[in-house]
Amino acid sequence: MTGKKERSLQQLAEKIAVCQKCPLFKNGRPVAGQGQPSKRLMMIGEAPGYHESVQGHPFVGRAGRLLDDLFTLINLKRDQVFITNILKHRPPNNRDPLPQEVKTCRPFLDQQIKIVNPRLLITLGRFAMEKFIDNAKISQIHGQARWVDWFDERLLVLPLYHPAAALRSNFIKDLLEKDFLKINNILDSLDKKGKEEGNSLNNQTKGDVDDQLKIF
Ligand code: SF4
Repeated sequence: MTGKKERSLQQLAEKIAVCQKCPLFKNGRPVAGQGQPSKRLMMIGEAPGYHESVQGHPFVGRAGRLLDDLFTLINLKRDQVFITNILKHRPPNNRDPLPQEVKTCRPFLDQQIKIVNPRLLITLGRFAMEKFIDNAKISQIHGQARWVDWFDERLLVLPLYHPAAALRSNFIKDLLEKDFLKINNILDSLDKKGKEEGNSLNNQTKGDVDDQLKIF
């Protein structure tokens, strides 16, 4: 059965499919996102690459296979996470996103976040991290969950290295694996705290959950 969140995401994907707000629409098929929103887990990468654009799905190819291995490591199925990117269309030659492109495409991502209402939002790589955390280096804060202000709400953001970076460096791959292993602990901790208080996570105070997260 398709739920309200799935329908809203599908409607948004239909808008993304016809978007021409920036020149990137000329670079092939957009990738709106993939995965179920019901677990309220969200993962954000940078932009589709060639293979993603051809298939219309995020994280295919070698980086996608590594991501699948990482999900297996923590007994999570890929489709239990809603995965998307900062940009929905592919930049030419896989160059870095331009600030104006990020700004123009941002309302789509913001709406996706609103719909999914993630209890944990995982950013992959520097560009996704920078959308939520200012003046930080991924080498210094990877694997450290933190609350960030987002419009009138707060999001729990876990910045991780991008799988493509892990493919280029075994050192980063080890770090990414170690950081991935923290995901279930963070979720368990949030669930435990929510059950104890009989409240949803969103009703907890920042201090409550910060205390829980100190153990990571
Ligand atoms: S990248 Fe984003 S803003 Fe640009 S055309 Fe695609 S969907 Fe529209």
